[in-house]
Amino acid sequence: MNLTRRDFLKVSAIGGATATVLGFDLAPAYAQMRELKIARATETRSTCPYCSVSCGVLIYTLGDKAKNVTAQVVHVEGDPDHPINRGTLCPKGSSLQQDILNPRRLMKPQVRRPGSDHWEDISWNTALDEIGHWVKKTRDATFVEQDPQGRTVNRCEGIAFTGGCTDTNEFNFLAVKAMRSLGVCYLENQARV
Ligand code: SF4
Repeated sequence: MNLTRRDFLKVSAIGGATATVLGFDLAPAYAQMRELKIARATETRSTCPYCSVSCGVLIYTLGDKAKNVTAQVVHVEGDPDHPINRGTLCPKGSSLQQDILNPRRLMKPQVRRPGSDHWEDISWNTALDEIGHWVKKTRDATFVEQDPQGRTVNRCEGIAFTGGCTDTNEFNFLAVKAMRSLGVCYLENQARV
């Protein structure tokens, strides 16, 4: 068979399923490649945090679990035993590994001051102090105990909360509990808790 290098790469990219124009079955080779990728890795079952479909995922980590060793995520894929997705993931879920390993991931709180045109890094202590200060001040100023008809409502109309799609379900659960305890009624998050 007359096969150029480009043809071979094309076939390899498409392949993996069964017999190909090359005349032999690439499936075992692909299976072996996958095995090598996750060899010695620890398999952990989890749930994709990106939306309320809640697909099951398998997360593979490398690390010998010794003290001071941080496990490294090496592969994420759909869980074939999960009743919701049966091994499939949408494009967003397929990129889950990059939610964990991403050089652009923010590791510090940031704030954009009134009138400023840029965000600045602040410490966690400063962020917590400022959030506490402004939440208390705003809630005290806008809390509504009764509506115009005299019915008890106990709601805070001056604060809104929204959770991003990369927040975990657990984070969203806690955030919703915290917001409801403050009486906040304008809240939404991707997990639809
Ligand atoms: S894989 Fe896609 S559909 Fe499934 S939970 Fe994640 S974002 Fe939702």
